[in-house]
Amino acid sequence: MRLSRRVREFEPYRAARHEAARGILLDANENPEGGLHEPPDLAQVLADLGRYPDPANLRVRDAAARALGVPVEAVFAGNGSDEAIDLLLRSLADPGDEVVIAAPTYGMYAVLAALHGLRARVVRLDRDFRLDPEALEGAEDGRASALFLCSPNNPTGNLLGRTRILEAARRFPGAVIVDEAYVEFAEVESLALEAARPGSSLIVLRTLSKAWGMAGLRCGFAVADPGLVEVLQSVKLPYNLSGVASALAARALADPRRLESTVRRNATERARLAEGLRALGLAPLPSAANFLLVPHAGATSIVRRLARERGVVVRDRSNLPGIPAAFRVTVGTAMENDAFLEGLAQCLA
Ligand code: PMP
Repeated sequence: MRLSRRVREFEPYRAARHEAARGILLDANENPEGGLHEPPDLAQVLADLGRYPDPANLRVRDAAARALGVPVEAVFAGNGSDEAIDLLLRSLADPGDEVVIAAPTYGMYAVLAALHGLRARVVRLDRDFRLDPEALEGAEDGRASALFLCSPNNPTGNLLGRTRILEAARRFPGAVIVDEAYVEFAEVESLALEAARPGSSLIVLRTLSKAWGMAGLRCGFAVADPGLVEVLQSVKLPYNLSGVASALAARALADPRRLESTVRRNATERARLAEGLRALGLAPLPSAANFLLVPHAGATSIVRRLARERGVVVRDRSNLPGIPAAFRVTVGTAMENDAFLEGLAQCLA
């Protein structure tokens, strides 16, 4: 069968769960205490299963709008924020257009750009993985349709900085997509309110998969100019969120108490994990997220040994510019972090 050139030539994304699904999973930046502890009335949700869900996703968008402090017309709800990335590219760019990616960063921007027949231009973050708005020089010639920024950045963990992002948005001629998948952990203000302004070229991505602890639900959001949200609503599949997912998402969003305790636990454990790594002679990068990037010349073999000998799964993130060998470890529960540190000490001994 003849496949399109785009499909023949693109390199599929390898998610953490493609590599491992068992063990102490500190590889996918999930919330180890996630899940929904007070489910909604499931009898009602199940009774509705015979009918198609609301194609406008109003209930979940309304709950997200309240939680994020923006008007509902500025919120698109997707099957994970990955769906929002896909639909944004579909809506903003024509095949052959260029998108700019501030890298090293999350791999899906480049994978989806390739699937849409777009050229991806990489702008390197600086030595400390911060954004240098001047590096966008040349990407400003009007041909680029979108710029991807991730803050806190995956896999480096640092914030790109509000002032720098807003400066980049002023300079860049196209849409500026700021992926805030991990922003709750950073305890800084989101750019969602700026993105929600009519006419704004800023788009903010948020997700229930990380601090909200609902990665299995598949629900994420784009906050954007209401006109663009209308476009996203029109290009999505009619029923992109299942009725079950919508009901559970709306329930999770209505109760931020678990989110607050997650953020507190993460901050304490992140500091303890970093301290434990330093005690082993390693130098994790400063992180505002729920993971640490740890440079080590033997990262690839450490990752293998940890999984094989200790059942602790972390992610090899070698080959980043400036950090040729490194692994990324998610901040887990105290017990998981102890198991990881103990296993690592043995690997290094
Ligand atoms: N953005 C970033 C930076 C991520 O790390 C991830 C997941 N690893 C996503 C988006 C996708 O999240 P979702 O589960 O909402 O599709």
